[in-house]
Amino acid sequence: MQPYYYPPYATPYPQPATSPNLGGVVAAYPPAPLATAQPAPPGLASRPLAPGANRPLLGALAGPAAWQEEVRGVVRELIAHLNSQNAARVATIPLVFDPNPNEINAFAGCDENGAPFVAGTEGLLEAVDAIAQTKATDELFGTQTYGAYMAVVVPRLVSSGGGRAAIPWGVIAPQYGSDPRRVSRAHEIFDEIVAFTFGHELSHHYLGHTGCANGQTVGVGPAIAQLGQLATAILPGLNQPNEIMADTNGCINTLDTGRARAFVAYRWGEEGGLWLLDFFSRIEAASGENPLLGFLRTHPNPGLRIPIVQTVAATWRFRNPL
Ligand SMILES: [Zn+2]
Repeated sequence: MQPYYYPPYATPYPQPATSPNLGGVVAAYPPAPLATAQPAPPGLASRPLAPGANRPLLGALAGPAAWQEEVRGVVRELIAHLNSQNAARVATIPLVFDPNPNEINAFAGCDENGAPFVAGTEGLLEAVDAIAQTKATDELFGTQTYGAYMAVVVPRLVSSGGGRAAIPWGVIAPQYGSDPRRVSRAHEIFDEIVAFTFGHELSHHYLGHTGCANGQTVGVGPAIAQLGQLATAILPGLNQPNEIMADTNGCINTLDTGRARAFVAYRWGEEGGLWLLDFFSRIEAASGENPLLGFLRTHPNPGLRIPIVQTVAATWRFRNPL
């Protein structure tokens, strides 16, 4: 394989306008219950349903507590569809959330005691929510709210003072805000983005990249105050071949899980990961040589990751035609 460099070095892949993802973890949870709700009304689906799919109408994910619980459920579902060896390596790893809304990141690491963890920040969950809300609105109503959102948030996020990725008031018109089809679609997209993001981070542990996930019994994870330090400690260890492997395995885990849930819920594909990467690639393009955003500092260039995800998904579909 050709070496895979970060910018400003050679870029062996074409660079679409886009961005990346994050990570998360989990504990010895039982298999995640799939969403239960009313069947979607006729004509709701804007994308084809999987064969036999019974796509429930999902409720709103409102605020940090709901987002965190949702991420835990998605990660449980991802782990349930790993092979038994990989699942055993990550089944007890704590998923830790940094409540800082001004930090946007997700990562896998080992704490000071050598115990594995996966972390995500509230800022990241705000960004995922905003992408999901705007994409769902545009898909159902033909609006351009994602572009409007990015026009506001990108300058804010690349400024020296930083800022939050939360969706500003007014980006989504009031007449669309509470539409139950839009709320449900945003929920689906949130889960799909989270699956790729945290599937990537989980894989760093079961692929042995962190070296600390051996299926051992672990505690509750590092203290929140340590997380910034631990994220910074990852930087010298960033390794392009490992990042490609994590994108590959995170994508496959998402697609495998999507196929398994397709008969009772929305089938996850690679679109969520691609949307996340689009978000970060736009920020990266506006950031210049020294991005401030934690996510961009702890992950490879998002524009380079897009074709990897697309290729992995195409290969997966060729091997899994149903
Ligand atoms: Zn990674």
